[in-house]
Amino acid sequence: MTRNRHAGEPFRDDDETIAAALADVSVPALMCSLVHMTGDPSWIRGDIRPRVANSLDIQSGLPPAERAEIRRRALPAIAAYRDAGCEPRELESELLLEMMAFLGTRPVGGRLADLFVDDLGFDGGDAGAITWGDQIPASAKAECGVVVIGAGLGGILAGIRLAQAGLPFTIVEKNDGPGGTWWENRYPGARVDIGSHQYCYSFEPAHHWSEYYCRQPELRAYLASIVDKYGLRPRIRFATTVTRVTWDDAQARWRVHVRPADGPADGPEEVLDARFVISAVGSLNLPRLPDIPGMDSFAGPSFHSARWPEGLDLAGTRFALIGAGASGFQIGPAVADDVKRLTIFQRTAQWIIPNRLYHAAVPAGERWALRHLPFYGRWFRFLTTYPGIALGTDPYRVDPDHHDPTGRSVNAGNAQRAEALAGWMTTLLADRPDLLPKVVPDYPAAGKRILQDDGTWLRTLARDDVELVRAAIDRIVPDGIVTADGVHHRADVICYATGFRHNDFLASMDVTGRGGVNLRAQWGDEPTAYLGITIPNFPNLFCVYGPGTNLAAGASLFYHSEFQVHHALEAIRQTLLSGARSCEVRPEVHDDYVERTQAELAQLVWSHESIRHSHFKNPNGRIYTLSPWPLDLYREWTRHADPDAYLFT
Ligand code: NAP
Repeated sequence: MTRNRHAGEPFRDDDETIAAALADVSVPALMCSLVHMTGDPSWIRGDIRPRVANSLDIQSGLPPAERAEIRRRALPAIAAYRDAGCEPRELESELLLEMMAFLGTRPVGGRLADLFVDDLGFDGGDAGAITWGDQIPASAKAECGVVVIGAGLGGILAGIRLAQAGLPFTIVEKNDGPGGTWWENRYPGARVDIGSHQYCYSFEPAHHWSEYYCRQPELRAYLASIVDKYGLRPRIRFATTVTRVTWDDAQARWRVHVRPADGPADGPEEVLDARFVISAVGSLNLPRLPDIPGMDSFAGPSFHSARWPEGLDLAGTRFALIGAGASGFQIGPAVADDVKRLTIFQRTAQWIIPNRLYHAAVPAGERWALRHLPFYGRWFRFLTTYPGIALGTDPYRVDPDHHDPTGRSVNAGNAQRAEALAGWMTTLLADRPDLLPKVVPDYPAAGKRILQDDGTWLRTLARDDVELVRAAIDRIVPDGIVTADGVHHRADVICYATGFRHNDFLASMDVTGRGGVNLRAQWGDEPTAYLGITIPNFPNLFCVYGPGTNLAAGASLFYHSEFQVHHALEAIRQTLLSGARSCEVRPEVHDDYVERTQAELAQLVWSHESIRHSHFKNPNGRIYTLSPWPLDLYREWTRHADPDAYLFT
């Protein structure tokens, strides 16, 4: 019998090694692992219990004395487990739910429990694996070619599932390697800001992360390793751009036009034939450069953050950073030591959550536990993911009766949060109070995508060789940037960390659907899709990370992608089983979904009119980029391709 892959690798380490490791672990996650080791539920039924469920507090508020007590009691239990051969006990599902409630500090049932039972896979399986391949006759499979566009985290996942279904497919990727955004964004300091242990596929737990929020090279290597593990590399056409995707009404098939990524725009194209297309092109990858007079006149290197020049030497330079959202906020501190002077131009201040783990290495003991202690990694994932998912969107809801003269909140809880975050900034800048008016935002907390930090950003701003400029930029000149107050800021290098064309979904190619309908014309500035996945007039086309699926709070996109790919494969399964040639969302179902989504978004902080600049918003200030739906609800909606929602023709 194969060992459950979450049972941990058996170990023979001595007591001293184990005791040293225990000093580094998350004690609440350890307590759950101890139930697996001993079969004894009293570990989670005693007086020592998590005080809070908070994704950023891996000790769940347990005071040091209680942590020490559990560690003391854990050592002989772990030693006994080792001496008995490292065989974890089988646990009943009710006990697993009780353990979820223990870590979550309240009962976990219904949709949330279903989500986590699948996600954590205590049976060692992959709940999302495709098992229906055999239901489809070989002849039907053979003529059911699928083209997946993009080999980022969504496209790789689609490839894994299509291979399991036994369907022929090709992944087309414009870059020279896999990873999507984690292939492209190589700027100094690039790292994930969702915990690494939840920023990975549910069925490919990554116990190896070196940091709690790991850096780009490690993420890129993780995604490449998944591509190789699942044998996807031969199925990916790298360095190939999709220019056009056109539906052939008569044949009920897609024609996917491709050309070499480094070839001329008007060069010869090849046409791939496909029954289904899965677009996994991402939505934060078309750089948005600002339109500032004089940009072309700048004498030194200038580039977008996602196009960081290979081998750029910054030593001795005056470095201008335009934009300080999620990217700029990582670049600034990472280059400050290398440059002679760093000038940061920030149009809107950013709310930041304190997170002491943001730049922290996963200590050796924690890594030992993730590797060896049964289900420790699963519980660690739960501990860091559940609180955000369980909160849903209520903390972000605008209370019409709430009035805040500072403009920093939309409900009472939001006001407390704004006060706490501003207080944290004030404490960190005790020696530089002059910076406070520049860094404390004047709009509701979490109204733009919130950042998190261990203080590195504010410490960087406080350096003598760093300047934060909040004045508007007037123009760019050959040797720098002139602001509206007339100051000439000299610069040798300019990095535009000005974000992406978030609202322009699938804008890198021309998509023509049934009856010659053009996707861009259909969408205008209001891109919509049913569940963010399927679009009326575009049969047999599925989006991963499509319109209205970005998560402004709550969870990692890996979760969403798994639900979306599952839904796409369900629709494909039903199409093939029914003998239909195409599957298309019914317009009224799409319209109803969009109406509900818009009504929900209108009540949430991200739509608040006080937020003038936000990549979530379209040019008219409306939001078509975000999902307002709690993850467990969205998962339930995506489980089935409902025949009432789809027309199988
Ligand atoms: P962003 O959040 O849109 O930030 C762009 C920055 O450029 C903002 O400071 C913006 O100011 C400024 N800007 C844009 N146009 C400007 C103009 N014309 N003049 C002056 N300033 C201008 O873009 P991003 O930092 O690249 O991040 C985009 C998204 O990518 C994030 O929300 C996140 O989802 C993802 N991301 C994630 C990570 C991570 O996981 N660690 C890292 C990077 C990016 P305003 O705020 O006033 O618009």
